[in-house]
Amino acid sequence: MPTDTPSTFKSRTDRRAAVHLPVFSETLSSPGGPGVDGPDSPDQGAGDARPDSTGRKRRHPPWIKARFPNKPTFFEVRNRVRELALHTVCESASCPNIGECWTRRALTIMILGDICTRSCRFCDVATGRPQPPDPDEPRRVAEMLAGLDLEHTVITCVDRDDLADGGAAHWAETIRRVKTACPNMTLEVLTGDFKGQTEHVDTVLEAKPDVFAHNLETVPRLSRQVRVQASYPRSYRILEHAKRRGAITKTGLMLGLGETRDEIIEVIKDTHALGVDIMTLGQYLQPSSNHLPIARYVPPEEFAWLRNYALELGFPHVESGPLVRSSYHADGQADLVRAILTRRSRETASRDRAAKDAT
Ligand code: SF4
Repeated sequence: MPTDTPSTFKSRTDRRAAVHLPVFSETLSSPGGPGVDGPDSPDQGAGDARPDSTGRKRRHPPWIKARFPNKPTFFEVRNRVRELALHTVCESASCPNIGECWTRRALTIMILGDICTRSCRFCDVATGRPQPPDPDEPRRVAEMLAGLDLEHTVITCVDRDDLADGGAAHWAETIRRVKTACPNMTLEVLTGDFKGQTEHVDTVLEAKPDVFAHNLETVPRLSRQVRVQASYPRSYRILEHAKRRGAITKTGLMLGLGETRDEIIEVIKDTHALGVDIMTLGQYLQPSSNHLPIARYVPPEEFAWLRNYALELGFPHVESGPLVRSSYHADGQADLVRAILTRRSRETASRDRAAKDAT
């Protein structure tokens, strides 16, 4: 599925705490890191995820900490999700931030069911043959979000390669319903790659979401290994197409899969050159021993360095940290999204005036 990096949390924590973390790749740069543009970078060798010298499994480092949900709001959100028979990526991908996010009423609804037709090797969402889309789901999504009174929300989906349009029509109906029910909320959609068929991206964009997000997930060299049925060039073209259509665009990478610093920098440069507006960088956490192992725990200071690098390059907004997921703190992006939308409508109006004056 096209969405937030899966991770460990509560009900599965015991199982996962014991997960073996073998060496996935020897491609990590030596301490000191490769030469990159910009300020001095922290060592890239820190946060080794390999077993220690006695062969014992390592636990997560201290900076990977989930907050246990114990506030009433968390349980209210959970009950409402159940009542409306909705799915969330927060639960399906076992996101470690669920305690924090749901306590703020920030959740990421996952549409088109909870069975994905793809089998990405990082993702905890079940793979299989899904049911046909539920035609009543858009209404329930709108009802849920209207009750939460949010400034901004993210909706994502499972990949539906079984559907001729990849689920685009269902997406469009969901967006329309939500925009009608929540006229003051900004809406971000985190979609799949529609197998590269950009006409389906157009169907989604025509319903007027405020942000179009599609995750590159990892660097080009690892893309096939990590995402299996997807590819970096295809995802890049999806973002390029959305950008060309004037959308506010967002993408994200998981780190710690064996990528080098230079490869991350290249993706940051590429996406900036494309005009992507928002970038997220977070630590990959292995959902189970059947998923790709963690090659490295990226330390917080390295995430901070990458954030500064991307901001200095000119990204309007970057979320970068061990527990960052594509929808993490997205609720805080409402003002940024509104500012970009206002600036764009002023630019369009001024271009229209100039064109009128010239005739
Ligand atoms: S980071 Fe995203 S997926 Fe995780 S709990 Fe928060 S909203 Fe849900």
